[in-house]
Amino acid sequence: MNHVYIALGTNIEPRNQHLKSAMESLRASENITILNRSSIYQTAPVGYTDQDDFLNMVIEIETTYASEELLAVCQQVEQELGRKREIRFGPRTIDLDILVYNEENKNSEHLSIPHPRMHERGFVLIPLNEIAPELIIPSTDKTVKEWLAELPEQDKKDINKWNESE
Ligand code: ADP
Ligand code: MG
Repeated sequence: MNHVYIALGTNIEPRNQHLKSAMESLRASENITILNRSSIYQTAPVGYTDQDDFLNMVIEIETTYASEELLAVCQQVEQELGRKREIRFGPRTIDLDILVYNEENKNSEHLSIPHPRMHERGFVLIPLNEIAPELIIPSTDKTVKEWLAELPEQDKKDINKWNESE
């Protein structure tokens, strides 16, 4: 069984529904079990900032899929939820990024694992720290908690827990 962390992000309404639908689609697969999930966070956009705030979360799953197969499943879910790939890093109904897949280190044209920017992104580290603070990020020698402690305050300030009952 393979142990995987996936980041979910959305900044098109209904945002909470997009997170739920993505989790439902993954859960519907016989080959995937969702073990744990973080809280949902509302985060200001990074990079391309002329867009609405995101909701972000991280889930922990077990799967029999190989990493490439899992990427295909994630992309299928993105398609199902109507994601349009217009602006890179721009608005999206749902983005599913494979963060960590076992201890795998891989860098192919279609798939980089661990996700190359995960340790510098507050919107990944903060939810991941909730469910896996002691996880050592493969190819680095530090845990999630340690990477988060190194993140500049500036990169954490616009990330707030989001009330799911809203
Ligand atoms: P981003 O997530 O960087 O905002 P996209 O979701 O459009 O942008 O992803 C662009 C490409 O990133 C995808 O076509 C996919 O092949 C590639 N990719 C590389 N590594 C990963 C990963 N770990 N998880 C998800 N996609 C990845
Ligand atoms: Mg992506």
